[in-house]
Amino acid sequence: MNSQIKVSFIVPAYNEVDNVFPFYEAFSKTFADSNLLWELIFIDDGSSDGTRGKLRELTINKPNVLAISFSRNFGKEAAIWAGLNNATGDIIGIIDADLQQDPQDALNMVDALLDNDDCDMVAAFQAHRHEGRLLSFLKRSFYSLMDSMMETPVLKDASDFRVFRRCVADTILSMPEFHRFSKGIFSWVGFNTMPYAYEPLERQHGVSKWSLFKLLQYAFSGIISFSTKPLRAASWLGISLSILSFIYFLVVMVQKTMFSIPIPGYATLICLILLIGGVQLLFLGIAGEYIGRTYIQVKSRPIYIESKRFQSQNIEHKHYQECE
Ligand code: UDP
Ligand code: MG
Repeated sequence: MNSQIKVSFIVPAYNEVDNVFPFYEAFSKTFADSNLLWELIFIDDGSSDGTRGKLRELTINKPNVLAISFSRNFGKEAAIWAGLNNATGDIIGIIDADLQQDPQDALNMVDALLDNDDCDMVAAFQAHRHEGRLLSFLKRSFYSLMDSMMETPVLKDASDFRVFRRCVADTILSMPEFHRFSKGIFSWVGFNTMPYAYEPLERQHGVSKWSLFKLLQYAFSGIISFSTKPLRAASWLGISLSILSFIYFLVVMVQKTMFSIPIPGYATLICLILLIGGVQLLFLGIAGEYIGRTYIQVKSRPIYIESKRFQSQNIEHKHYQECE
């Protein structure tokens, strides 16, 4: 029954030279036992370690591979977008190149989707987090914050490791926003999503591309991309401070007129100036972030630039203009 179903897996790869072949071997071995047609769409996200050459070698020697190289590093979100633009499957998936996500889990997720007509997407989440306590705490806090800011709930601990039907991919492709935040986009578009618990494995080769600072930036960017609540927070804080200052004004008036208590002004004044100044600058910055994003979006620059593509002989894809 599944024989004609085609699955496309998007594989973002940034400096993953030593993982390319092991990943392909593991994936093809797992999917060979299924009745599915499959293709792997590797996105070389401006790697500088020879990933591109390795991908070329892969397409020459192995079937079912399309490899697209970016002109520079555009980030994993852009890689996912490029993959979606090129995926031809009825079912589309996203999986990392470092083998931290087991292809067997990917196949189980595809099977779960096929077994359940009501389900449009299966999203993997980490059953147990293996990071340090600080990182775990920060990630948990981020998900709670994100949840309180979004109109739609974000699946807790969900990664980009997921599989979904073509209708989901087409919906996402109709959203060409520049600042992409997949976790938010997947939750925003809705569709019936089934969670799938998985255990992340150890990275096979290379190092993680995410530092704590990069993750914080990503979290901040995600919130700004998906919610205007920080802007509303400025209004609420402004109202609260106005009420507080009015109450303080009344207290001071009573102290001065009824009890003749001297009011030492200097320290209070400095503290208030610093507080209000800080809060104003903070919200000016936040408002600036929104304006900056609008400015970038209005420019309508491409989300990624493709510099080269290689494909296995059995793969038929649109041929893009390439830069030599
Ligand atoms: N990745 C990418 N572009 C980037 C950073 C990462 O395509 O700018 C890819 C990377 O090659 C890997 C996946 O995204 O396949 C997840 O990255 P990583 O393993 O570094 O993240 P972690 O698993 O440590 O969260
Ligand atoms: Mg990884």
